[in-house]
Parts: sequence; C-alpha cells; structure tokens
Amino acid sequence: MTAPASLVLDGCSVVTMDGQGSEYASGHVVVTGNVITAVGSGSPPRGGLEGTVTRIDASGCLATPGLINTHHHLYQWGTRGMAPDATLFEWLTQLYPVWARMDAAVVRPLATAALAWLARSGCTTTMDHHYVFPRSGGDLLGATVAAAQHVGIRFHPTRGSMDLGASSGGLPPDDAVEDRDGILVASQDAIDQFHDGSPDSMLRIGLAPCSPFSVTKALLTETADLARRSGVRLHTHLAETAEEDYYCADHFGCTPVEYLDSLGWLGDDVWLAHAVHLDDAAIGRLAATGTGVAHCPSSNGRLGAGVCRTHDLLAAGVCVGLGVDGPASSEENSLIGEVRQATLTARATGGPQAMSVRQALELGTMGGARVLGREQEIGSLEVGKLADIAVWRLDTLPHAGIADPAAALVLGARPPLELLLVNGETIVERDQLTSVDERQVAADARRASAALVGRSSL
Ligand SMILES: [Zn+2]
Repeated sequence: MTAPASLVLDGCSVVTMDGQGSEYASGHVVVTGNVITAVGSGSPPRGGLEGTVTRIDASGCLATPGLINTHHHLYQWGTRGMAPDATLFEWLTQLYPVWARMDAAVVRPLATAALAWLARSGCTTTMDHHYVFPRSGGDLLGATVAAAQHVGIRFHPTRGSMDLGASSGGLPPDDAVEDRDGILVASQDAIDQFHDGSPDSMLRIGLAPCSPFSVTKALLTETADLARRSGVRLHTHLAETAEEDYYCADHFGCTPVEYLDSLGWLGDDVWLAHAVHLDDAAIGRLAATGTGVAHCPSSNGRLGAGVCRTHDLLAAGVCVGLGVDGPASSEENSLIGEVRQATLTARATGGPQAMSVRQALELGTMGGARVLGREQEIGSLEVGKLADIAVWRLDTLPHAGIADPAAALVLGARPPLELLLVNGETIVERDQLTSVDERQVAADARRASAALVGRSSL
C-alpha cells in the first residue's frame, strides 16, 4: 500500500483556534492524507514523512481553520437583489412565488455558484436549508448534493419543509407548500440516500421545517421524532423579527422559544437560525438545553430584523456559529465577511468588549463546528483533526504592514485566499477555484437566474 501524500505549509502565521488559543507568529501545519499531523512554531522537523511530500513556502500568509457556515439557502442565489428595501415578511411574500417555480435544472447551477463563492470566502463546511419543493421540481436536494460534490466542499444539507399555506393561516402561498405525509416520506428518503455519519463524513443530512409561520405544529413534532429516531440534527428559523413575535403571541399565546420548548424542539441536537428577539428567559432555556444558534448579522442588517444578543448568548454558554443566510437577503454572502460583520454588529450596540476579534473568528470556526455537532473533527488546527484549512495572503496592498494577522483578517478587507483545503484536497489556489471553472459557473448561474425569474412573470 502506498503511503498517503503529505502537504507542508511552512513560514506562515498560524491561528489554531484550539482550546488554549495557540497562535504562532511563524509556524507550520502538516497534512497527511485528509488529517492534520503537525502544527507548531518554526519550521517542521525534516524527515519522518513517507509518500509524496509537497512543501509550500507560506510566508506572508495566515493559516486558520476553514470557516464553517451554519445557515444558508443556496437556491436563493437566483433571486439576489430583489425586494432590496423590504422587511422579512414583505421580502418573503414577494419571493415565494418565484421560488415556487424552481426545479433541479436551475437549482444545480445556482447552488454551484453559491458554494463556489462560499469557498472563495474561506468556507470549508456549509449547511444548506432548502425548504421549497415545487411538485414538478424534480430532485432538488440531489441537485444541491451534486453541486457540493462538484465544488468539493463539506456539506450538511437539511431537508427543509413548509406545510402551512396562506389559506390555513401561514405566510407562504398554498402552491409553495407540501403536504405533511409527503414531507415525512421525503425526509426519510433524504436520510436513507445521503446521510453519512462517519467521522470524516463529507455529507450529513439534517431536517429543517422552515419557521413557526410556515409549518404546522404536527409537522414540527413528527419531524423531531423522525430526526431523533434516525440520529440526525434539527434546524429551523426562529425569533428572527418582531413580526414573528407578534405571530407567535397571536397564534400560540407565547414567545417563539416557548413555542419550540413546548414541542420538545430544544436540545443539543437542534440549532436555530437568527435567534434575534430573545428575552433573558429564552437565552437561559437555549443554554440549559444545549440548543445552538446560527448568527446571521448581514442578513439581519439587510432586512432590518434586529440585533442578535451574541454577547449575552455567549456569556450564558450558548453555542453560536455564523451563517451567511441565503444570498437573496445577504447579497455579499461571504463567510469571512460575516466574521467581520458579527464583530461590528456586536460592538455597535455593546462597545468594543462585546466581541473580540478572536471571539468572532471562533464563531466562524469552532463555534460553527459545535453547532453542527462536529467539534471533534473540524473547527481548529490540531493534530488528528480533518485537514480543512484556509491560508490567507496578508502581504499584499490591503494588509501590508498590519500589526496583528488575526485583526487583519477580521477587521480588514477580505484577503486573497492563497489556499483552501477541504479534507486534505485543494479547492482554491491563489484566489481561484481549482475544482470548477469560475467563468462557467458564473455564466450558468446568470442563465439559471434569468430562467427562474422569467418563469414567475409568465
Ligand atoms: Zn434563512
């Protein structure tokens, strides 16, 4: 048997995000196969590596763990820039009819574009929350999985759902929702077909009813039963806007978190997107139950939804990761951009101590790993962890001479991405994707977007 190949990154700054906060001003990272085998200060010891060895002079660069995205809707790449000044409910009401006409032929190129851009922003693992499944849409989940495999990113898609149409008191139009039995069968099928629970898995399924105003109580409880029988995680949108608070008070006589709590929907196998409108009791319940949060500051800002209490969540011990959210409510859609936005958003209301540079980077790395239940495998640069690594170039004009590499990355302009490794494989090199042709991806996405928007005006 041939020994696995090794890659040696030498001469770079290293921010490991390990439990001790280890950082090296000039250090190394060694990868053998798909695993990190050495991290430390100075150059790695010579010798000891079998198989092919590639050495990279990474001076002028910063190595960090690959970033982890905990909330997304890939298909929304096709409806960016629409309803640009709307609230969430206005924006949804305008876009649901467009989304209700999507099919696998448009979702595949749109998802490829969204994933390719995520990788360019340092992301090595992403979830997807796909919750609109038109009757004649074909295999939409399969289309996103194929796109992720093509780009080469570690993928946690969720089989989302909506079963509460406008005629039954929900927000989405009736033709954008499915019936409950069909959703549960499709959810089981998604798990059976795609879920890989192994430690170095590139593909794990979750289940994700959309939101309190688009799904029934029965769908929430039956989905939770199915997920827990199958050992997969649960996800939903929650407490995103003040309107949702009013909706829950009107329909359920309680807050969004009390509503989920009453349905057995809090726990360490659950993570919630947004969690903006929380009182102290709600934060206490999330902490006590181990429920995670996907913080999406750019989307919250774009839709004017409010400011997540990240400082209070972290102080209470809640696991918080970052999410770019769908590209239609967060057009920049860059994960390193979200690290910066999380820092600035927290500080704008809470002062500079509300979120340190390293805390923000932790949200984008270990925080995301915890939220996805993968803290043993990804999220930090440590021996034995999977080789998901971002190498940022910090010696060009935007960052030349900047004092602290971590501050350069978090507070400065988005640096060129010298290298992005996922599971030991290079998918970005010198700020260009190596797994797909960017021009082709962009051309395909333009065509798919025009086709999708064109259908809705017929
Ligand atoms: Zn969302």
